[in-house]
Amino acid sequence: MKYNIALVPGDGIGPEIVGAAVEALKITGEKFGHEFECTTYLAGGAALDKYGVPLPQETVDGCLASDSVLLGAVGGPKWDSVPNNMRPEKALLGLRKALGLYTNLRPAAIQPALAGACVLRPDIAAKGFDLMIVRELTGGIYFGERGRNETGDAAYDTEAYSVMEIERVARRAFETARKRKGHLTSVDKANVLETSRLWRETVHRLGETEYPDVRLDDMYVDNAAMQIVRDPSFFDVLVTSNMFGDILSDEASQVTGSIGLLASASLGDSSRGMYEPIHGSAPDIAGKDLANPIATILSAAMMLRYSFDLAEEADYIEKAVADVLEEGWRTADIKAPGQEDWLRGSEMKDKILGKLKG
Ligand code: NAD
Repeated sequence: MKYNIALVPGDGIGPEIVGAAVEALKITGEKFGHEFECTTYLAGGAALDKYGVPLPQETVDGCLASDSVLLGAVGGPKWDSVPNNMRPEKALLGLRKALGLYTNLRPAAIQPALAGACVLRPDIAAKGFDLMIVRELTGGIYFGERGRNETGDAAYDTEAYSVMEIERVARRAFETARKRKGHLTSVDKANVLETSRLWRETVHRLGETEYPDVRLDDMYVDNAAMQIVRDPSFFDVLVTSNMFGDILSDEASQVTGSIGLLASASLGDSSRGMYEPIHGSAPDIAGKDLANPIATILSAAMMLRYSFDLAEEADYIEKAVADVLEEGWRTADIKAPGQEDWLRGSEMKDKILGKLKG
């Protein structure tokens, strides 16, 4: 089968890490009999330099015509002084909007070989964890009505959710739980917020009528924040609103110990998604062959799993990464203190490609 992938490498380390992920995809495609046809488009600072806008129409059209999008990262100090509406980061919001993406999936798992890098107490880290935060992306308080009073000494922001907005992200979360361990935790603040009460009612109605096979429980957001550091192994999939998800997904990613390892997906109604590492364009290490390609390679694996339904192929890539880490290979960002034999970004890529070639 042939899949068309739009590549948006972006800025800084973006082209290095996206290039590594493309090589991993090609080898996996050859192994399993698929063709991954990749077309590159500009966005962010690179597009500003060439076209004077952070998100050219050609990029939007190319992404809309693709089966899925793989993005590196955008931004950097070179474009810090451009006007707000021209900032490279605007390309991300523009792409999400154009592609109708309203759900964000952020896995946070501890790689067994890297338990030492986890910031949690060793007995908690030793139990391991593998959780997925499903965050609503286009509603809630970040997009609600806001303002100040006439004198400017009071302000308000509004949290608003409709049943339709809750249902569509909840469905995605139930489906995700089905592809994993079948356990979904809905996170809200239903003891205080009316939107949370609607959230809870809606998620439970869907659970009873459409997903009785998924084990559903609820947790207040303050308790969820505590449990992520006390007992993250409790969780499989969490589903929550835009703001709660923003905060919890950053918390969860930090407890794993390295942002160079973490992938993400943004999804909408169609199978087309946008996949990207959670880290930025790392201008401090760009061009120095220090970028860890793992988060982007794992983002490509997520694309295979969630957009193309190629679970076996996704497992194959994830296992190659886990095996390389298990053997003790590390890039500079995840090396143990004092470890001398660490790998450059391209060397880490070659180790993973070597495993994929088998
Ligand atoms: P960053 O994630 O780019 O870097 C933070 C630190 O982590 C840096 O020390 C960097 O060297 C390191 N790091 C990041 N990715 C790494 C990797 N793959 N391997 C090894 N080390 C890695 O965050 P920042 O410095 O706050 O932001 C830099 C630029 O990226 C800014 O312009 C910011 O706006 C942009 N940014 C873009 C995105 C995105 O495109 N989704 C996300 C976050 C930040």
